[in-house]
Amino acid sequence: MFLNSRVVALVLAVVVAAVTTAFLSLVPEVSDQALLVAALLSFAATYLLLYITFEFLVFKEIGEIYKVLNKMRKKDFSFIDAGDSSNTNNPLKRINREIYNYGVNRNKEIEDLRRLEVFRREFLADVSHELKTPVFAAQGFVHTLLDGAVDDKKVRMKFLKRAAKSLDNLDSLIHDLLTLSQIEIGEIKMHLEHFDIVRTAHEVIDQLENKVEKKGLEIGLDNEYPDPIFVHADAERIYRVLINLISNAIKYTHKGRIDLGFEVKGNEVRVFVRDTGVGIPTEDLDRIFERFFRVDKSRSKDSGGTGLGLAIVKHILEAHDTHVGVVSTVNKGSVFSFKLPIGQSTEEMEEEANQELELLEVKDA
Ligand code: ADP
Repeated sequence: MFLNSRVVALVLAVVVAAVTTAFLSLVPEVSDQALLVAALLSFAATYLLLYITFEFLVFKEIGEIYKVLNKMRKKDFSFIDAGDSSNTNNPLKRINREIYNYGVNRNKEIEDLRRLEVFRREFLADVSHELKTPVFAAQGFVHTLLDGAVDDKKVRMKFLKRAAKSLDNLDSLIHDLLTLSQIEIGEIKMHLEHFDIVRTAHEVIDQLENKVEKKGLEIGLDNEYPDPIFVHADAERIYRVLINLISNAIKYTHKGRIDLGFEVKGNEVRVFVRDTGVGIPTEDLDRIFERFFRVDKSRSKDSGGTGLGLAIVKHILEAHDTHVGVVSTVNKGSVFSFKLPIGQSTEEMEEEANQELELLEVKDA
């Protein structure tokens, strides 16, 4: 570029030297030699001063700003340290950093929006596909019946049962989808309370015992827990989490047993569900909590799985500021676990309330 720091300094230095010499030449006793020295000195001093100022303080920083903008255009955000723009006195440096930070933030927002858009599209496609399967199946059975199969008593019952099963699957799917979206948009508030998780575990086991027996499996607590273990959580949602985890354990276990257990450590209790089932390959462990992800699609659908059970578990536990962990070995089994904060028993809560009351009474007195 023609207008660089050297040219600008040169032009200004010539002007300053000319003005200084012209001014000095007005003084009668100054000799030509002195005028020449003054011209050279003022030229050299001005040139150096301006050159250094422009080169190091202005042009260099403006050049950096151009570089930043150019790289941003190419979506390269890896070239500058995004330090705090407030810790430098140089306003051009500050502008440069502000531009960089602004660019990085905008780029991140755009990336997030793109990712969300892809996610939304994939989710829509997944939901349509999942809804289509049971609807098509039920439709097929009903139409076959209407086309004449209804007259055959044996076929009639068989097809009606199959249509009913497809509609049941559809019902579970819609129910799970609604639960998931309600949790996500925060429509379902968590109602934290103090309750005995051992008792909840017994209730879940009682509810699923039939299914366990039908598959010839065993289910129970891994140890005897004679005393209650109080936790502070949403009892209804944790019940749902256990139902989902144990239902999965039943679905994906063909022989052996399912154990539910607790480990109390400090102010937390770790709840775990262990099975001796088919296990999950290591590469799928991170993905099983995604909606509609299934390790073995046909097996999950045959057993009535919606592909949303673990996504619901994950969301409920995240709403409790905790998360679900899983350890699994293929053909050996899996352990799903999560932690909850220890709660108070009814007696402890009553005692605390009494103490607070006494404190209030003392204050009033
Ligand atoms: P699904 O309705 O298909 O069971 P989930 O979200 O509950 O959906 O589970 C996602 C996938 O994780 C399942 O399809 C299955 O492949 C795998 N999975 C979940 N729990 C277990 C388990 N206890 N043992 C083996 N695989 C499991």
